[in-house]
Amino acid sequence: MGKELQSLSAIEPFSLTETSPRICPDIYHPAIARDGLLTRLRIPGGVLTQLQCVTIAELLETIGLEYVQVTNRANLQLRSLDRDLEPDLLTKLTECGLAASNTAVDGIRNIMLSPTAGIDAQESIDVRPLADAWLEYLDLHPELGILSNKFSVGFDGGGSVGIIDRPNDLTLLAVAENEFSLHLGIGERGSAPLPVGVNLTTDECLPMLAAIAQSYRQGIEIIGGDVRRKPRLRDVIRHYGSIEFGELVRREFTGSSHFIFKNRPPEHDISLVNSDLHLGVHRQRQTDRYYLGVVLLLGRWTRSQVSGLGAIAARYGSGSIRLTPWQNAIVPDVRERDLQTVQGLISDLGLVQTATHPSSLLRACAGTTGCQYSATDTQADAIALAEYLEANVTLDRPLNIHFSGCDKSCAQHDRADITLWGETESPERRGSYRLEIGEVAAKFGRESSDFLPPERVPISVVKLIEAYHDCRLNAQESFQAFANRQ
Ligand code: SF4
Repeated sequence: MGKELQSLSAIEPFSLTETSPRICPDIYHPAIARDGLLTRLRIPGGVLTQLQCVTIAELLETIGLEYVQVTNRANLQLRSLDRDLEPDLLTKLTECGLAASNTAVDGIRNIMLSPTAGIDAQESIDVRPLADAWLEYLDLHPELGILSNKFSVGFDGGGSVGIIDRPNDLTLLAVAENEFSLHLGIGERGSAPLPVGVNLTTDECLPMLAAIAQSYRQGIEIIGGDVRRKPRLRDVIRHYGSIEFGELVRREFTGSSHFIFKNRPPEHDISLVNSDLHLGVHRQRQTDRYYLGVVLLLGRWTRSQVSGLGAIAARYGSGSIRLTPWQNAIVPDVRERDLQTVQGLISDLGLVQTATHPSSLLRACAGTTGCQYSATDTQADAIALAEYLEANVTLDRPLNIHFSGCDKSCAQHDRADITLWGETESPERRGSYRLEIGEVAAKFGRESSDFLPPERVPISVVKLIEAYHDCRLNAQESFQAFANRQ
């Protein structure tokens, strides 16, 4: 038995009636963070109606929060709560679909869609009906409440704004008109799910999801675990081995395809997935309809912006807003004649829509205000950098800058152009950052300078960007390519 399996089997079996705070919260079970209680609203598919926007804005007002934060799973997060949400608020959230009516499964409603599902001119399949069917299945199967709250299922319709690189436990990727490739999160933590050599018709997708979820449940019942650290799907697959786990799934599967799970290399380069593609104005597959991608700085969405975007969607779109796993929002279904008006109204809310604006460059984890492991106030430092960049630099290509309070890298698992890593090991350097760039084997890239106190970060980043602008081979050379030449 390998080291990981030994540590898994050493975990005590957990009780489903356990009431201790969970590491990954849901709306009924908040977690305790440094800044107070932390809770999450699962937004299946990241799709919100105007009524839900109104309800969220009212909720923020009632509990005295200025903003809600879009997470990198396109859910919503409330921080710094001083108490649990009152029962009448929970009832209101349930009534408008912002919480599961079955409290056992609220935490596993991590359903990620391509944020342009159904409107993407390049997609093979509109995956929204599949996501709806999966949500319905979860609501009818409270026994799945035993799964980790991190369990997440992705549906990628094969369009221009894909989510196949997002670290879901399981993703169904449309590869033809009636064909999906099954990808499982069997790699390292934070890596994209990998194809396992199983292709399915659309009708077989729900039976396959159900079979995997039920096999995962059986695996947890056998392995056991702690309620705060339930085994992930990858832990269960490793425990059995992929062939034996595939056998379990096959016994549960009611579809007609015959399959065995095999590790396969990805069919395409997942690094080609571009997190900026949804920003700005884009033509939809529907005639005379456009969607507008809107930047939410660090995923922060203020009360007035929530109600404002909802109202814009109701007046000029189809009444819905979509959240993205890059912590932004999309207003779909706007007519060409209304584009200018809508762009103006979005700007009036203080929101930008371009991928080269400093607000769209940044990712940051909770930092010292919210996380006990953080060495730095990543959120405040990222906002300070955005303000400094806005005053001092004009970008002609998007960049990605990632602040991480420790090496766990919660906010972004893939490599950024520039990473600022909070120093946790050396007490005298605690509170400073190590700035790293470029592509090398190290997790965050190449270390390019000494430790930086937070106040020196903005000027150092601006110098780097100026060097890139002055010394790149041509306007097409990316920052990563430039950094790798140094
Ligand atoms: S990356 Fe580290 S410091 Fe930041 S939220 Fe995650 S665990 Fe906390």
